Amino acid sequence: MAVLVTGGLGYVGSHSVKQLVERGEHVINLDNLIFGHKQAACGSEVIIGDIGDRALLRDIFSKYDIDAVMHFAALADVPESVADPRKYYDTNVAKSLALLDVMLESDVKMMIFSSSAATFGDPQVVPIPEDHPKNPTNPYGRSKLMLEEILREYERAYGLRAISLRYFNASGADPSGEIGEDHNPEHHLIPIVLQVALGQREQVSIYGTDWPTKDGTCVRDYVHVSDLAQAHLLALDALRNGCQTTEYNLGNGNGYTVMEVVRTAENVTGREIKTVSADRRPGDPAVLVASSEKIVKELGWKPKYPDLETIIETAWKWHSTHPNGYE
Ligand code: UDP
Repeated sequence: MAVLVTGGLGYVGSHSVKQLVERGEHVINLDNLIFGHKQAACGSEVIIGDIGDRALLRDIFSKYDIDAVMHFAALADVPESVADPRKYYDTNVAKSLALLDVMLESDVKMMIFSSSAATFGDPQVVPIPEDHPKNPTNPYGRSKLMLEEILREYERAYGLRAISLRYFNASGADPSGEIGEDHNPEHHLIPIVLQVALGQREQVSIYGTDWPTKDGTCVRDYVHVSDLAQAHLLALDALRNGCQTTEYNLGNGNGYTVMEVVRTAENVTGREIKTVSADRRPGDPAVLVASSEKIVKELGWKPKYPDLETIIETAWKWHSTHPNGYE
């Protein structure tokens, strides 16, 4: 029995693969290497290829006895999705439909899907529960919501069961220091802040200092990537035990402002981190904080690294030992 992981050489994917392999799962890791890193394989069986390649998918499903798919492979750059929505609907929706087609042809009927807090848009209440209205403010969030809705319909029509996991701000790195975050270009706050601490950037631009928050900077719910990985394993177990299609939010329920992240990173690194005020970034909501009670209650999810300081410590361990990422 094997699990097919798509995009398993990327950030959240590789951390999940590591935990799957550690508990003895046979992992087939399909990645096109656009954002993935070969060095992040963590003992999985890597196949280089694209999720839109039906012939390749048919080969994989006929060669291996796959019971479930963890589907991480996607594009995830919000501003790019606004500039080039076609690319996002093609990769995140159309290619996912190809994957689902071949799963159904092969009678593989369980999927864990990487969704996002971007499916909600501007929150009307925080912490945000799963049934909060969905009004994505960009094509990236809409592409993720579309797949969630498609997965609901595929359960009714074809009996394919899926769990969609909506990540809030994935951050940190495996505590071993062996794998971590390596995006190029990097737009996420914590790696950028740590690049300033490393002297690789002069300063961090703060996107808006007049938001209606306690210090005027945006509030986000940072969740450790290894805790996200743990949720994927719990979701796999739940599907194997017969659970029906559903969605779960994944965050810690604690919001931190951008300036709190900078100050915590200064404490962790012992270095000064220079900031400069900049314009608001289009599409940024002021506050995004998850309610994750549903997955805690239903699947027993228990984050091991919920506090911001530990999250940044693990990220710092990775960035300070891999200043140029995987290279
Ligand atoms: N942010 C910032 N400067 C940066 C990068 C991010 O001020 O160089 C802010 C961004 O506006 C948001 C928060 O930090 O409020 C987290 O941004 P990130 O891109 O890490 O994640 P997002 O919340 O957009 O998914």
